[in-house]
Amino acid sequence: MIIDGTQIAAGLQKELIHEVKRLKDEHHLTPGLATILVGDDPASRIYVSMKEKACEKIGIYYEEHTFPGDAKEGEVIRLIQRLNRDEKIHGILVQLPLPSHMDKSSVLCSITPQKDVDGFHPANMGRLLAGDESTPPCTPSGIIALLEKTGIEIAGNHAVVVGRSNIAGKPTAIMLLNRDATVTVCHSKTKDLERYTRQADILVVAVGRAKFITEEMVKDGAVIIDVGINRVGGKLYGDVDFERVKKKASAITPVPGGVGPMTVAMLMKNTVTAAKNTLK
Ligand code: NDP
Repeated sequence: MIIDGTQIAAGLQKELIHEVKRLKDEHHLTPGLATILVGDDPASRIYVSMKEKACEKIGIYYEEHTFPGDAKEGEVIRLIQRLNRDEKIHGILVQLPLPSHMDKSSVLCSITPQKDVDGFHPANMGRLLAGDESTPPCTPSGIIALLEKTGIEIAGNHAVVVGRSNIAGKPTAIMLLNRDATVTVCHSKTKDLERYTRQADILVVAVGRAKFITEEMVKDGAVIIDVGINRVGGKLYGDVDFERVKKKASAITPVPGGVGPMTVAMLMKNTVTAAKNTLK
């Protein structure tokens, strides 16, 4: 089975369109998202414009703020503080990566946890660790939604996550653990990686190296979730050698069209949830 992230994300988008309409009709509330882009990284521009399009489709108010690559960290933080107080805005997203002269942690921590729709604020990461997934990070929650919507059993299965970044691998491992998977996390210092990947019932790969996972590294019948987005010669590749591995897998996500669309859909969901929370 090829897990069609585009289709699953479209289903979720439909639900959100109805929900946003209901919030507007019943509560005169329009969810609002502000994105902040520093510098002119072409990939970051594409990601930001995807988010803008998704907001348009769903009916979410959207604001984009851009800074030149040499902007001062203080300027970005001042804007965030203003957006924290802005009632039109329910979600604030700083597009990563930030230029190297900025301290990513200081910038992300200046977003109020209630508007942290990326789920990267330490308060929200801590909640996730404690089993409270009220503001889950978007890529991991997209992965979980892909598994759940395709009826793949998580509880009791052995999930192996390759990669331990704060945005992908680590929170995905925690969300799988929260759902009673037995979880192994691998990284660049793991000895004999294949020994672990071959044991996976569910293999999640977030490394950032094209075709890194080969068919020899997976068990027959495994479920493969490929988070990687690697541009090679103008083409996109995942971290998994899709054509070969799909012959062994019982289910696999393609790149593009797997985890990527779900990440955007989950950002929209988090923004709508943040808006709804203001009604409480
Ligand atoms: P990072 O570079 O932050 O993390 C990569 C991880 O892979 C690290 O934990 C690193 O280990 C591990 N790693 C590197 N080399 C090896 C190796 N040889 N063996 C085992 N582990 C290794 O990347 P991200 O997590 O941010 O992103 C990973 C990929 O996912 C990228 O291609 C990115 O573009 C994509 N991505 C896609 C998203 C989507 O929406 N589809 C969202 C986010 C990311 P160590 O910690 O030891 O250095």
